[in-house]
Amino acid sequence: MFALILFVFCLGLLAVVLIPVYLFYSQSIRRGDKNKPFISLTIDDGPCPDSTPIILDLLKQYRIPATFFCVGEKMQANPALVMRIIQEGHEIANHTYSHPYGLAFKKESFIVSEILKTQAVIQSFSVPVLTLFRPVAGVISPPVLRAVRSQGLQIVNWTARAYDGGKKLLHSKDRMFYFLRAGLVSGGILLIHDNHHLALLSVIEKLQLEVQKKQLSWVLLSQLIKSRI
Ligand SMILES: [Zn+2]
Repeated sequence: MFALILFVFCLGLLAVVLIPVYLFYSQSIRRGDKNKPFISLTIDDGPCPDSTPIILDLLKQYRIPATFFCVGEKMQANPALVMRIIQEGHEIANHTYSHPYGLAFKKESFIVSEILKTQAVIQSFSVPVLTLFRPVAGVISPPVLRAVRSQGLQIVNWTARAYDGGKKLLHSKDRMFYFLRAGLVSGGILLIHDNHHLALLSVIEKLQLEVQKKQLSWVLLSQLIKSRI
């Protein structure tokens, strides 16, 4: 009997791990058109008063358009930063309202409310509201998928990420370029976070050199996705 309970428990544990991994790969956009020389930079978790202005300065200096996956409540707290993001030619997409780390385990109705509240905040800045959504940490569960689909949105994750999320960098800044390099391909979608501007400072020049060497061009994520369809 104990062996059976243990077996069922292990099976459940395996499902909790494998279902999001399967959905991550099968139900999200992770790359644009492989035959077109475009690439997109996406920046999660902002806007943040400490890092967003420095990131925006860097993007302006290197002429890189970016797509900011913003958190609704942070946009409400930092409207001037949102305006600056928009005015400088970048775009804003939905990364939940309160960034709950257990989003994938929440009910569909809760996830829908997180999506809708943030779409409304974006709309309040009088910009076109995109239909792009990135779940917290990119984790997709069946309720996340149902919630996103019911609102007519698409999940966009990434080709390569810098592993720079959370409060601290988990690795040296030099490793960021190593991780991001895998995404420097046609249709590549790169992910960095809006809380470690020093990390971006350390990789942006290398990124730009590599992008030029490969004859790729930066475009907004909405343009990259459009060219894919
Ligand atoms: Zn996030």
